[in-house]
Amino acid sequence: MKKFENHPPVHTAILERFYRLKSSKRLAHAYLFIGPKGIGKSETALAVARLLNCEKETPVGEACDCPSCRKIDCGNHPDMYRIKRPEDKSTIPVELFRDVIERLQLRPIEARVRVCLVEDVDEVRAEAGNVFLKTLEEPRADTLLILTTSVPEAVLKTVVSRCHQVFFFPLSDRELADWLQIEYHESSSEAGEAAKAVILAKLSRGSPGRAKDLGLEFLQEKNEIIDCFILSPRLEDAFLKSYTSDKETARKFLEVLLTFFRDVALVKRGLGEAALIHADRAGDLKKLASRYTEADLAGIVAEIVSAMRGIKENMNVKVAVTLLKEMI
Ligand SMILES: [Zn+2]
Repeated sequence: MKKFENHPPVHTAILERFYRLKSSKRLAHAYLFIGPKGIGKSETALAVARLLNCEKETPVGEACDCPSCRKIDCGNHPDMYRIKRPEDKSTIPVELFRDVIERLQLRPIEARVRVCLVEDVDEVRAEAGNVFLKTLEEPRADTLLILTTSVPEAVLKTVVSRCHQVFFFPLSDRELADWLQIEYHESSSEAGEAAKAVILAKLSRGSPGRAKDLGLEFLQEKNEIIDCFILSPRLEDAFLKSYTSDKETARKFLEVLLTFFRDVALVKRGLGEAALIHADRAGDLKKLASRYTEADLAGIVAEIVSAMRGIKENMNVKVAVTLLKEMI
């Protein structure tokens, strides 16, 4: 059986922990999943829901087509609740909780263990938090609450103290690349797929969500940045405009520069190819490594980092990028 097909990668070690908790009947009633955005917290929470309710007892990490697993996958299981901030709101509105809490007091319709997932619980403010707290304190025995956050410091203390904490760490490049290959298997039959998956995995720093956001097409874009900004003798105005038009685009652009020049520095120090992110540009990395001194490279990297900081502080990115081009 294929692993994880059609599923974002779930964190197998965490699932196995839930499997043991379930087997030994030591499952607590509320867990707080803590880890960076896009790491797979919600997907793992859904996998926990599948695991606790699977009708075939399918082993952890394998796909299952039992009615319960299928309904959870399709988002139409009557006992699975998913609360998250609506896009047009800045916090999770209290009404969303009121509605769900009422239903949580009744017996589940068909689940062995009903699961209520609250995503980005740091976006819950005090009023909604207080409404929710009562459920957190006294849920029914057949109800499991899973809350997620990427900023645990911003979660109401009263909420944190009522949950068991579960930490999520970035996937290794290999794990993420393997998953990306399955993910893109059907849509791309091009050769070199494996190498592309590895580059995308490295650019995504262990976050499947980030990898999906960037997408394989980003590899072409990042090479365009390398060609038109780093290797081109002059900076075209249209190019400068398009990459500094908004913060997100500028941040992605600077990240390509940063990873590329870090790679140049690695090549300069004679470090192995396995560590390189832009392995598809090995020839150019080598060329640039012989052009710059270590001090030059340190200066360029420092300038890129300072431009990145500038984005956060709303400074003029266009000016910073123009200065940067003069250094390169
Ligand atoms: Zn199943």
